[in-house]
Amino acid sequence: MAKVDSEWKKLNDQIISCRLCPRLVAYREEVAKTKKREFASWTYWGKPLPGFGDKNASLMIVGLAPAAHGGNRTGRMFTGDSSGAWLMRALYKAGLANKPTSERADDGLELKGVYVTAVVRCAPPANKPTPQEIANCRPYLIEEIRLVKPRAFLALGSIALNGLADAVGMKRQKFAHGKIFESPQGKIVCSYHPSRQNTNTGRLTEDMLDAAVNTAKKLAGLDA
Ligand code: SF4
Repeated sequence: MAKVDSEWKKLNDQIISCRLCPRLVAYREEVAKTKKREFASWTYWGKPLPGFGDKNASLMIVGLAPAAHGGNRTGRMFTGDSSGAWLMRALYKAGLANKPTSERADDGLELKGVYVTAVVRCAPPANKPTPQEIANCRPYLIEEIRLVKPRAFLALGSIALNGLADAVGMKRQKFAHGKIFESPQGKIVCSYHPSRQNTNTGRLTEDMLDAAVNTAKKLAGLDA
């Protein structure tokens, strides 16, 4: 156990201090300095984000990247933004989180059997990382998968699916909401990302996200 703990510490220390992508380093730090008016009193995190949740999880949820005023502000993935609110509500309803909200890193949120991460750890401008930035960040995802050893994945959006496919050694597949792929490291369930762009337009509804989470939960063996 001590060895695993030290491996997690090494990984998370590496992630938090990473400066491999100059464009993203500049952006995350600029956003942390200029802030959004409603968050003016916050000290933004402004650094890369490790994943969070249950380190012995059976289900790994893979998103795109932290939001500029969400994770990049609060210091935790899927925290303080609309995507986080949608995801945690779905996880809570599925019995995989102890509360339905995710607002700040010290809010007492605990995930049960679930680890949440992303293919890129720094907030990208317009939520669009470049292929090189995704490749730069891939070793961190590979290491998280090695340490967590999940039985199944939920990929949020096509960029997450491609990034995950590259990380687990699966041929890239055409994304479709609700599709399930077999990878060398477990089944991958696809869902549209719960970004405002998808939830405001009705492309992703609450029922659709709930269904994808429940399918992934089942494949991960968490419904027993
Ligand atoms: S996106 Fe990943 S590889 Fe690039 S600077 Fe951030 S943590 Fe490092």
